Amino acid sequence: LHQEIFVLSDVVRDSIVLIESRLLDQEIELRFIDHTTAQVKGKPSELMQVIHGLLLNGIEASLLSPAPRLEVLVGESDSRAWVKVIDSGPGIPEDIRENIFQPFFTTKKIGEGVGLGLSSALGIVAAMNGRIFLEEPSPQTTFVVELPIAS
Ligand code: ADP
Ligand code: MG
Repeated sequence: LHQEIFVLSDVVRDSIVLIESRLLDQEIELRFIDHTTAQVKGKPSELMQVIHGLLLNGIEASLLSPAPRLEVLVGESDSRAWVKVIDSGPGIPEDIRENIFQPFFTTKKIGEGVGLGLSSALGIVAAMNGRIFLEEPSPQTTFVVELPIAS
């Protein structure tokens, strides 16, 4: 219901626009590299929520590093399109990696996070027949959203 076919990188760009003032205020550098015009199927507003959540997590993590930096890549391989959100933060401790997609799992203080971002993202992406995961091994924290290309 209400599914649309849309250009993935358009939604990613729109999500970046939403956080642009925060990037400026907090002096976070963001690089956006867009390598595909692939289209995907679903609700653009829901996917925007997913990317927005990843960007916010990335912002918070990057602020713990001396030169806060995000990289957002959009590409495709085989019949899949993907978005990668990479941050300059300290990374995710190995012992909590298996928990981060669980509802209400958070390492943030009360009022700063309720731990629903990644779990709701998982549901949204699964409904689009895609996957969301932490890329491992990776020198920098890298979240990947992978979606089937809609033709
Ligand atoms: P919240 O942001 O409300 O804590 P999320 O579901 O978005 O909830 O994330 C769950 C937890 O996963 C975070 O509290 C944090 O411990 C970890 N996490 C998510 N993204 C990152 C990241 N980019 N760098 C480090 N830790 C992260
Ligand atoms: Mg979050």
